[in-house]
Amino acid sequence: MDLAIVGAGAAGAAAAYALRATNHDVTVFEKSRGVCGRAATRRRGDCTYDHGANYVKDDSERVTELLTETLPTEGLVAVDDPVWTFDADGRIAESDRPTETKWSYERGITQLAKRLFTETDAEVAFETRVGGLERTGDRWRLDDVDDDPLGSFDAVLLTPPAPQTTELLTATTWDDPRRAELAAAVEAVPYRTIYTVLLHYPFELDRPWYGLVNTDREHEVGWLSREECKDGHVPDGESLLVAQMSPAWSSRRYDDPSDEVKADAAGIVAELLGDERLADPDWTDRQGWLYALPDEGADAETLRAAEPEGLYFAGDWVAGDGRVHLAVESGLDVGERIAE
Ligand SMILES: Cc1cc2nc3c(=O)[nH]c(=O)nc-3n(C[C@H](O)[C@H](O)[C@H](O)COP(=O)(O)OP(=O)(O)OC[C@H]3O[C@@H](n4cnc5c(N)ncnc54)[C@H](O)[C@@H]3O)c2cc1C
Repeated sequence: MDLAIVGAGAAGAAAAYALRATNHDVTVFEKSRGVCGRAATRRRGDCTYDHGANYVKDDSERVTELLTETLPTEGLVAVDDPVWTFDADGRIAESDRPTETKWSYERGITQLAKRLFTETDAEVAFETRVGGLERTGDRWRLDDVDDDPLGSFDAVLLTPPAPQTTELLTATTWDDPRRAELAAAVEAVPYRTIYTVLLHYPFELDRPWYGLVNTDREHEVGWLSREECKDGHVPDGESLLVAQMSPAWSSRRYDDPSDEVKADAAGIVAELLGDERLADPDWTDRQGWLYALPDEGADAETLRAAEPEGLYFAGDWVAGDGRVHLAVESGLDVGERIAE
């Protein structure tokens, strides 16, 4: 069977992985230049940093086993340092929640999708944005955004975030009432926007925590972490803070000049940590994530109703929460159903 997977994020990679030992021909279309989607890594100088998802939680036995036993474990990094909390007034407190293991890789979290794809024969077409689908007989034709054909397939798996999957369904020609029902179910998934700001300092920041999470969701910072707690990410004697600004602040500042946004974020972080040196990082980076985290899942029954026609869905929004391990599980599940 010829299968097209749209999106080479954690879900798309896991689906391809689940199909590795079958005789399905898998082609993956990915609009960006790399794999792993919102679980993203960049490099600058000697620093490596995860500027989307910070880590994979060990909440899923299946995914933890995949990371720690099945896939190559070379360079797998466990962050064991604790996550503390802070409130709207910036009061930082030790958390009584048990410390869970958080996974990344020395070369960054994108290694997860890289390692999954390495186990497969899937062909990944980068910088290829799928613009729409057309049902022709019992096959699906995919076009790019210029309406140029990308190929015809027995089945298609859509993994982009729900708003981008809605765009694809809206641009789909399929004379069947399920098309509109699907588009409505997928469009209903609410998302949070997050602006990530990276702040680098040429000195060490001595703190007892890896991350700080804002528990009342009233602070301008939603999450702050120290990338140096991941082996291999930040040279000794330096510090790299990852600040994920709150959804309200991120949406408000999303289109402002990035230098202003980064400077303001640095000031807020300096105040939160009570260290004025932090307002003046020696370099910064940033990434706006318009569709960062789904707050709910789409109706599973509506999604599954398209499967007899060879149209499948996977991703964190199918699972119902913005987590890498859930995206992986969703991809594995759908891959196993396709294999059947
Ligand atoms: C700032 C931030 C922090 C986060 N922190 C954490 C965390 O610490 N721990 C955690 O577990 N999770 C975290 N998450 C959530 C986690 O990143 C996601 O749940 C997970 O990566 C989703 O994987 P996915 O495969 O479902 O989707 P994605 O990663 O979004 O993959 C979809 C892929 O589809 C591609 N695509 C989209 N449209 C098209 C198209 N038309 N044609 C071709 N390709 C297309 C995209 O480029 C992308 O590569 C965070 C997310 C963000 C944004």
